[in-house]
Amino acid sequence: MEKYMLIKKVGEGTFGSVCSAINKQTGEVVAIKQMKNKRYHSWEECINLTEVQSLIKMSKHPNIVKLREVIREHDILYLVFEYMECNLYELIRKRGRRVFSEDEVRNWCFQVFQALAYMHQCGYFHRDLKPANLLVSNNVIKLADFGSARKINSGQPFTQNITTPWYRAPEVMLKSPTYTSAIDMWAMGAIMAELFTLRPLFPGLNGADQMYKICSVIGTPTDNSWPHGIRLARGMNYQFPYLPGVHMSIVMPSVSDDATSLIRSLCSWDPFKRPTAAQVLQHPFFHKCYYVIPPSPRTTPAAYCQQNTNTNKNTAVIGIQAGIC
Ligand code: ADP
Ligand code: MG
Repeated sequence: MEKYMLIKKVGEGTFGSVCSAINKQTGEVVAIKQMKNKRYHSWEECINLTEVQSLIKMSKHPNIVKLREVIREHDILYLVFEYMECNLYELIRKRGRRVFSEDEVRNWCFQVFQALAYMHQCGYFHRDLKPANLLVSNNVIKLADFGSARKINSGQPFTQNITTPWYRAPEVMLKSPTYTSAIDMWAMGAIMAELFTLRPLFPGLNGADQMYKICSVIGTPTDNSWPHGIRLARGMNYQFPYLPGVHMSIVMPSVSDDATSLIRSLCSWDPFKRPTAAQVLQHPFFHKCYYVIPPSPRTTPAAYCQQNTNTNKNTAVIGIQAGIC
């Protein structure tokens, strides 16, 4: 860590505390995430973390935050990233009442959907999409915080309550044991709506209120719209509040039909009725956008590891270099 000079704290999340810093050798400004609440007694433990593994595989996408180094020092794990100016949560709060234009929302969302299409194609889903985990610098937006990311076919039952309630998909709230990458699509529907209105679409105070807020916008699910959800709710003795819902154009007046129809399909009760990220990129809302050919998921950066022999310092560094796995 001595090659970095810390500048100031720039963020704090559930798992990490993030500082900006300067690499004394190169002058590059970076962001260093120090993992909280846990000691890392071995290097294997660090590089086997899904957060580290998924970032090593996907960091080369232009809309995924770049991991520069992984350092374990005195049993503390530090992830060194490219520095980004702010997160989308801060950007939204700073706007006050000055809403983004439709072109700005299109530009932000197109970039995020490209990152998500890539991530899902690589076999991971994020599970904690929210404005604070989307980082912005110079009109470029990047997916960050892979601390909750999972392999799509990991074969393990997924844990519940992983995302912030406002962006949490209903199947997660109803404790579905088999949720999929469609939970990221739900979160993106809510984030896209928030970009238009600068207010969260489903700002629940707790689990029950969250469900109430969802029903009040998209209407109570039926045997027809989401049979699996009705069964899940019955299984846990949960009764949906009865609400008819409203049209998205009432929630977001002066937003185009293309945008509201996309948000409505992303926020479908039934995960199978939500479009995939790859399908969203083809949606009429994005017809004006230029698609950037993503890096091939088969050529992932190879990780090299330098174990510091000075046991007092107990430092290990991982660097990312181009290569084929
Ligand atoms: P946690 O897993 O604890 O939520 P995050 O990775 O989301 O940690 O980081 C917490 C906050 O730190 C983010 O919301 C963001 O504001 C800031 N942050 C994270 N990475 C960077 C970065 N590369 N550049 C600038 N700020 C960052
Ligand atoms: Mg976070």
